[in-house]
This record gives sequence, C-alpha cells and structure tokens, in this order.
Amino acid sequence: MAIYVTGHSNPDTDSVTAAIAYAELLKAGGEEAIPTMQGEMNPETITVLDRFGFSPLEIMTDATGKTIALVDHSDLNQAPDNLSADSVVAIVDHHKIGDVTTNNPIFCCTKPVGCTGTILKQMYDAQGVAVDPKVAGLMLAAILSDTVNFKSPTCTDEDKKAVAELKEIAGVTDTEELFMDMLKAKSTVEGFSANDLLNRDYKDFDMNGNKVGCGQLELATLDQVADIRDDLYNAMKEQKAAGGHHTILLMLTDVMKEGTQLVVLSDDDSVVEGAFDSKLDGNSMWIPGMMSRKKQTVPNMQKAFGC
Ligand code: MG
Ligand code: MG
Ligand code: MG
Repeated sequence: MAIYVTGHSNPDTDSVTAAIAYAELLKAGGEEAIPTMQGEMNPETITVLDRFGFSPLEIMTDATGKTIALVDHSDLNQAPDNLSADSVVAIVDHHKIGDVTTNNPIFCCTKPVGCTGTILKQMYDAQGVAVDPKVAGLMLAAILSDTVNFKSPTCTDEDKKAVAELKEIAGVTDTEELFMDMLKAKSTVEGFSANDLLNRDYKDFDMNGNKVGCGQLELATLDQVADIRDDLYNAMKEQKAAGGHHTILLMLTDVMKEGTQLVVLSDDDSVVEGAFDSKLDGNSMWIPGMMSRKKQTVPNMQKAFGC
C-alpha cells in the first residue's frame, strides 16, 4: 500500500521538500511512496521547486483510507482531515510533539534542530542512501528557509553541517545567492490580497482553551508592507471574527534587521504585552531579535496563558 507523505497545511518549503526527500528515502528502502502537499505552494516554494527542476506535488487533504507519513508536523489541526490512529505509519519532525496518536508502533524521528531537511539528511546517512543532487538542492533550500539563513535561534550546528554537505551534493556554490533568491520570492506582496498574506505562513494553536492564531511574513524590509498595514489588520479582524480566536498575531519579520514588528489583535492586549515584556504602540510592537514563531512567539504566548 502506497505511503502518502505530507507536510503541514499551509505548506512551506520544508513541508513540501521534506515530503519529496522522505518519499525518495522510503522508495530507496523498497516502499511505494507518494509525496504530497495539503494546499498550493507559497511563492518561495514555487521558486525552489522550479530552480531544482521539480513539478508541484499532488494535493492531498483527506487521509481517509490512506497510509500516511507526516513530515514537519505532528499536530492534528495541521494534518490532513480524517487522520485515524491507524493511518499514520511515520513522523519526521522538528517541532514540539503534537497530538497525533497511533494504534501501532510507528517510525518516529523528531529532533530539536532547525529543519526537517536536516533530520532527513541524517536519516539518509544512517541508512547509507546517497541523496540525489536535485533532492539535495531542495533540502538545502529548506534548511536555509527554516533557519532564515542560520539567523534563527532554532538553527543548530547540525543544520550548518547538513548545509555544508548538501551544497556539495547539489553543486550549489553560493548559498547566500540562493537565500536572497528565496527571500525575494517569499517577501513578494504585490498581487496578493491581505488575506493571502496573513495566511501565507499561518498556524492556529490551542493555548489553555484559548484559540491563538499566528501568521508570519518574512520581509527584506518592513517598507514592503508599509502601504498595506491597515489591510492586513482588517484581514486579521475578519479571521478573528470567523474563527473565534482569543488572539491573532502577525509577525512582520525584518530578516535583515533581525527583529519583528508584531501586530496584535487580542481580547486581552495585556496578555500579549506580558508575553513579550513590551508595550503596544497602536496595534503593534517592535521586538528585536524575534525571528522564530516556534521558538520565540509561541512559547512566550503559551507561558502567558499558563500552559
Ligand atoms: Mg514548516
Ligand atoms: Mg520545518
Ligand atoms: Mg517556517
């Protein structure tokens, strides 16, 4: 029975490329594996697949009757619909353990590193499987993306080692050029609605019974969104009204200045101000050094909610 490999909903570059890389590794081990994604690719991922010669993946949003391997997540609310405890056969991830459960023992590899691509590179090595040069390019791009070119606090020495090895395999001499090419694509705002931009890299979380949403836009400069700040805030309002959130955050992350303008829409601003020990100026606050939703924004919010 074919294993459908999928990353999280609102797929990012790691989710899509990890699905490809893990499917290839499963195939090398004699399994039948199909890399999939749960929705359309973001502009960065389109650029990456195009650059290394891959076509978009099949979109798979319903796990009914399927055998599933999850990459880059283990949260039910980010997984395909109708995921049963019988359907998941593997998890490869670098986030906190989520709430997916299984009826049987499964292969599960999670590590506190910057990217699923790094774990997959280590799995290829452990199994003695050579990484295809084009797949190596994808994994390399994913690590640069997830670690924000090594600047994210999630980045580890293991990620740097994987990049050094993957760039050789992929024949990529200049990772700075690759990263800037990806940043240019990922920070494109022209032609996208405010709702598209809010949801480009967006996740919902349950924090002690409070629904908290957090989107992130990685930008080369905050000037890129200066003209659409009101539109983005209105999109947050619509999303909050429709979703019944306690709080919606939008991280406008300036990758070059290494900080985030955090836009806040909350039933209780003081919770968010307390979480980041900062005061709102209008509907946002500048938080120096904030790059990572997973390692900085979400844990601080969870603490503020007493999780
Ligand atoms: Mg991801
Ligand atoms: Mg990832
Ligand atoms: Mg990400």
